[in-house]
Amino acid sequence: MESLVSILYMIAVFAFAYGIRMMRSPKTAKQGNVISLIGMLLGLLGSLIQPLPLGDNNYLWIVMSMFIGSAIGLPLAQKVKMTAMPQLVAMFNGLGGASATVIGIVELLNINAQTPFSSKFISVLALLIGAISFTGSILAYLKLEGKLRKQWVVPGHNALNLLLLVIMFGLGILIATGTNGIGWPLWVMLALSLFYGVFFVFPIGGADMPVVISLLNSLTGLSAAAAGGIYGNKAMLIGGILVGASGTILTLMMCQAMNRSLWNVILAGKFTAGSGASSNGTDQVMKEITKPDAAILMQYSKNVLVIPGYGLAVSQAQKIVKEMDDLLGGVDVSVKYAIHPVAGRMPGHMNVLLAEADVPYEKLLDLDDANAALKNTDVVLIIGANDVVNPSANDDPGSPIYGMPILNALDAKHVIVMKRGRGAGYSGIENPLFYHDKTKLYFGDAKASLNEIIAELKENL
Ligand code: NDP
Repeated sequence: MESLVSILYMIAVFAFAYGIRMMRSPKTAKQGNVISLIGMLLGLLGSLIQPLPLGDNNYLWIVMSMFIGSAIGLPLAQKVKMTAMPQLVAMFNGLGGASATVIGIVELLNINAQTPFSSKFISVLALLIGAISFTGSILAYLKLEGKLRKQWVVPGHNALNLLLLVIMFGLGILIATGTNGIGWPLWVMLALSLFYGVFFVFPIGGADMPVVISLLNSLTGLSAAAAGGIYGNKAMLIGGILVGASGTILTLMMCQAMNRSLWNVILAGKFTAGSGASSNGTDQVMKEITKPDAAILMQYSKNVLVIPGYGLAVSQAQKIVKEMDDLLGGVDVSVKYAIHPVAGRMPGHMNVLLAEADVPYEKLLDLDDANAALKNTDVVLIIGANDVVNPSANDDPGSPIYGMPILNALDAKHVIVMKRGRGAGYSGIENPLFYHDKTKLYFGDAKASLNEIIAELKENL
């Protein structure tokens, strides 16, 4: 039985790694997902046939938990809108952290004089990291859902942050070196870890949220790896490490995209939603463009660069953009897409949407290539993007997003912005681009607006 379990785990781990590798390209991402799913099923099977420590009743408990979990998770995942995916991911993260915490507690309650230091220490890690990621993820969920817009930084936040970490770690060592974890150190460490999750996510908001989400993702992976270590479950251990490692890489990439160091994001809480002063004032006039003018401008251009943002996801306009792209392509207008790493509400959000609409991957330009291309672009069409094209990031040192690399839309000859009204972006700050002489606003839901342009193009072509 032991060797069968090991073989199943080995195949599972291979499937995880290969699945992740396939997710590097939209063409193979779906198959990658299926391969990883098969890996997960094999890992689950291995865990089920592995000799279990708590006796015969385990199967009843396992089946009951799986049933309850599936009854809650399945309808939730089926119902969720594409725009609410980040919230769902945040909740999944939180639940993963909660499971690791419970495992840590159960194991620490069962330690005795014979339990080695390494086992106790790994249980401490599962509890500590899991609890932080649990409460942190719930808070991230509330922020993404727009239910919590406040940030809160107590005086001496950084010192307190450090002090909390030292106390938690100290308690962890106390538990791991002692023979009995049931005492007060366990419960104090649990309470502090739960509090720390709130304490560290609360001050972060606005444009910094992508960093927090990927960091929480990596913490959940690490807590799962620790839980895998507790039971000697190799599939869980390596699976957790893979999530932890990819989450860490993503966190660093997101920091790079925001031009900030990780410590700066965690300790400073500099970006704050809604706190940015309007550099241009909302009393300024936005100049509108008519349907025929917008269509004609694009159809007589050499090239059009589309900048998609969160609004594209809200209106689910990805397939309509592709239709417009095809029409313009028919009259030799080159259409490409500029993808900002934090556009939308989850890493890779725009790539996923455009892949769903079968936009060829070669048409997608990353931030640097897009900024280079913008200098030779006739028309830039911004569809539901705001923060990622806000020039305050370049030229207003007082702006909360100052220093974040953006897509320099103003480098193009003409700028058309599709949005519904005067709504701000996620960071809640004003965008001077919308009042610039070069910029023309096309008001309305992105999907409806694009349909109008398509109708005009069909009449003209
Ligand atoms: P923004 O959130 O900055 O702006 C979206 C714009 O879309 C709004 O100005 C809104 O204006 C418009 N909009 C909304 N719905 C529609 C619609 N149906 N049709 C047309 N327009 C619409 O989006 P960006 O993509 O530019 O920036 C992403 C922001 O989210 C960044 O601040 C980023 O840091 C943050 N973030 C990103 C995450 C990630 O992982 N990518 C995760 C969490 C946060 P109006 O209401 O007037 O229509």
